[in-house]
Amino acid sequence: MKKDSIIANNPKLKSWVEVSIGSDFPIQNLPFGIFKTKFLSPVAGVAIGNFVIDLVYLHENGYLDGLGLPAGIFNKKYLNDFLALGRKKGGEVRERISELMRHDNDELKQNVAARELALIPMREVQLLMPIRVPNYTDFYSSEEHATNVGSMFRDPKNALLPNWKHIPVGYHGRASSIVVSGTPIYRPKGQLKLADTEQPIFSPSRKLDFELEVAFITCVETKLGTSISTSNAEDAIFGAVLFNDWSARDIQQWEYVPLGPFLGKNFGSTISPWIVTLDALEPFRVEGPLQAPRVLPYLAYNGSKNFDLNLEVSLITSQEQQLVVCQSNFKYMYWNMNQQLAHQTVNGCNVQVGDVYASGTISGPSPDSYGSLLELTWNGQRPFTLNDGTVRTFIEDGDTILMKGYAEKEGVRIGFGECKGKIWPAL
Ligand code: CA
Repeated sequence: MKKDSIIANNPKLKSWVEVSIGSDFPIQNLPFGIFKTKFLSPVAGVAIGNFVIDLVYLHENGYLDGLGLPAGIFNKKYLNDFLALGRKKGGEVRERISELMRHDNDELKQNVAARELALIPMREVQLLMPIRVPNYTDFYSSEEHATNVGSMFRDPKNALLPNWKHIPVGYHGRASSIVVSGTPIYRPKGQLKLADTEQPIFSPSRKLDFELEVAFITCVETKLGTSISTSNAEDAIFGAVLFNDWSARDIQQWEYVPLGPFLGKNFGSTISPWIVTLDALEPFRVEGPLQAPRVLPYLAYNGSKNFDLNLEVSLITSQEQQLVVCQSNFKYMYWNMNQQLAHQTVNGCNVQVGDVYASGTISGPSPDSYGSLLELTWNGQRPFTLNDGTVRTFIEDGDTILMKGYAEKEGVRIGFGECKGKIWPAL
């Protein structure tokens, strides 16, 4: 959909639902998720202010008539079947919901009984995994992050490997252990090779870390042998979530040669529960960094493909001490989503509905914008102190990592909600 034709993005729109200042979910956002309540089994919903709109109720009561939606499309545990209707259909549903929620639209507003049933206070719902994830890819697309890691573990003078500016480097991650915000993460155990011992030991990780990432979710099914071009990529992307790629640095460092991340990563990844549509993010496009050397033709692209999204990570201890440890921005990415999807499929690899493609750690240029503790504490050499004197290099049992993200312009804030996980002791 063209930028100007998305009426739902108009910053002047107001809803009859009260949306407080600073809310992630004004009428211009309308992200999709899956929720349940004491009385409802999992169904699809849309967030607005402090409410969740029950899409099953809207659909069954005729509010979405004329959109050609299959019966029962929202009465499901996951959004995959809805996503499979395509980006355009998703946009039409979002436009219709926007219309229903506008301050001057009386269809729901004046029907008190229907309003009560259609709008459920956020505090009464449990947000669930929005999608069943068939495949998960993790990229490595922040130049600052790759440079920091390369400097730390190899050579500051040659921090980027020779392929880095030619290929959006990535690997296939583990889809089964992607969990929704709020799900506890058990500290992983594994082989660690300590500096002062010759043989590896078996132990709970001593260097547990987060990685601040944004992931996009696909809404198409492609055939083996076919590819998605950079110019078609956005038709295949429904929206995005925040993504914490939990990482056990000690397990990772010992295992990663020669095949890359494995048990240091696959014990859990956390996503935020609301899929913010690419449509809602339209007004926040910015140009990406200049790419030199010039990329191969299949990675070339036109237009502004980066997004200005403010990102923040906080560490919260079991004593409720909270500290913002990182402030970054999605706009810093060297490789954009279109290039990542084009690269992923250039060899004929197929894409499925609900696939998750994570950006890679999003580090900015300044030390307070580094997207992992590995970088923020420079592999433990620069600990930080919380207000109560607690010192941290990596994540301790009982700590919670909270990620937030939002785009903001002309008084409109498109937020992602929370991406949160607490570390429990190893089982
Ligand atoms: Ca990662």
